[in-house]
Amino acid sequence: MLGNLIRDKGREGRRGYTLPRPDVKSVSLEKVLPKGALRKEKPKLAEVDEPTVVRHYTNLSRQNWGIDTNFYPLGSCTMKHNPRANEAAANTPGFAGLHPLQSESQAQGALQVMHELQGFLSEVSGFPAVSLQPLAGAQGELTSILMVKKFFEDAGDDARTTVLVPSTAHGTNPATATMAGFGSKEIGLDEHGCVDVEELREMVDETTAALMITNPNTCGVYERNMVEIAEVLHEAGAFLYMDGANMNANLGRMRPADKGVDVMHFNLHKTFSTPHGGGGPGSGAIACSEALAPFRPDPVAEKSGDGYAFVRPDKSIGRVAGFHGNFGQVLRAWNYIKMHGPELRDVTDMAVLNANYIRARLRGTYRIPYDELCKHEVVVQPPKGKKALDVAKGLIDHGYHPPTIYFPLVVKEAMLIEPTETESKETLDDFIGTMLELAESTSEELEEAPVSAPTRRLDEARAARKLKARW
Ligand SMILES: *Cc1c(COP(=O)(O)O)cnc(C)c1O
Repeated sequence: MLGNLIRDKGREGRRGYTLPRPDVKSVSLEKVLPKGALRKEKPKLAEVDEPTVVRHYTNLSRQNWGIDTNFYPLGSCTMKHNPRANEAAANTPGFAGLHPLQSESQAQGALQVMHELQGFLSEVSGFPAVSLQPLAGAQGELTSILMVKKFFEDAGDDARTTVLVPSTAHGTNPATATMAGFGSKEIGLDEHGCVDVEELREMVDETTAALMITNPNTCGVYERNMVEIAEVLHEAGAFLYMDGANMNANLGRMRPADKGVDVMHFNLHKTFSTPHGGGGPGSGAIACSEALAPFRPDPVAEKSGDGYAFVRPDKSIGRVAGFHGNFGQVLRAWNYIKMHGPELRDVTDMAVLNANYIRARLRGTYRIPYDELCKHEVVVQPPKGKKALDVAKGLIDHGYHPPTIYFPLVVKEAMLIEPTETESKETLDDFIGTMLELAESTSEELEEAPVSAPTRRLDEARAARKLKARW
């Protein structure tokens, strides 16, 4: 590893940072590592032949579960196919080899891609301003709510202490409110599974900073009262924020700005097909109205003369990430949108069709708590007496990644199924067949599952509490 360090004692960065670079010749492990971290004996490495090593790693890699190997209907996560063309775009040497401290003049192509993606996201959302900096959806939420906070600080309004969160919200929403220094209050649902507007009217007052809404919400239900909800908030001087994790159901069909939303985040890694899972990498780009634009994180890529430059919005909340966000995800999202062009809407139409096909075919065997037209995902409950956990584990034995279970919290024994647009009818039929078959299995049979996976059923709570990450 140390051999890779370039022998160079410092280099002037774009903004005059000096990068410390050790002089490799003078570095010895004893000098750089604490004594306790040094081995006392040489490691006992296995002495094996090459085919054994190759087989070992190949077989390990085959235990990896991913969208490239199996159907992955993990609700709310939008596990769609990742086109290989995206990887080609992200691995273009001119982009992949860029250093984040390279001068703007040497990175004009990258700035252009950022500027264009900002434009595409503007078009899809209806908002005039975008930032690509946040590194995940959760961070996009936090960035948005910090912008709202700074707006009120700037306006000298110190009464805004509360953020409202519907009971269907993803856990990151109340967490965001708390991390941004607000209290959060939960709002209930009406009989359609939508935010209860009457309850909202009673809750909103001069202490309300924002409502965080997800549309379609995590029950796969479209929040049909958005315009009215936005009016209630705006009358009280508060903002409407939209969690855009479910934008896969809106592309080309609903622009949040048209519905009165003030600020939102995208999950580029969900909606625009960049590989994710296992904690990253992600990109939580945000889009906002004119009123919030000056508070966006620093910097954003803007046009400047014949080229592009990084600009700090006037009242910026500052940086929320090192450098310029997850640029690899930016390239993939840009490529994905360019590939679809004006047909981007087909993504949404197919995703919604697929989810409704599953809903229609599971109906009668599985319980459907909100049995109306759903958007890109559908929440179902197993037949009475069966547990979501058992059905999920049974799916593993049939070669499927289980859907999200026990979420949304408002539905008991919830199974949140999101097929995405990239699955064929054959795949959906096979999956539905398995779901119907599992519904017929006895509870005793299901409790045994999975029997074919490398590990059987784990005590997940204990594994999380007493993590043993070595053997
Ligand atoms: C995935 C998701 C988030 C969080 O996004 P991350 O990129 O995982 O941080 C927030 N809200 C909803 C509804 C989501 O599905």
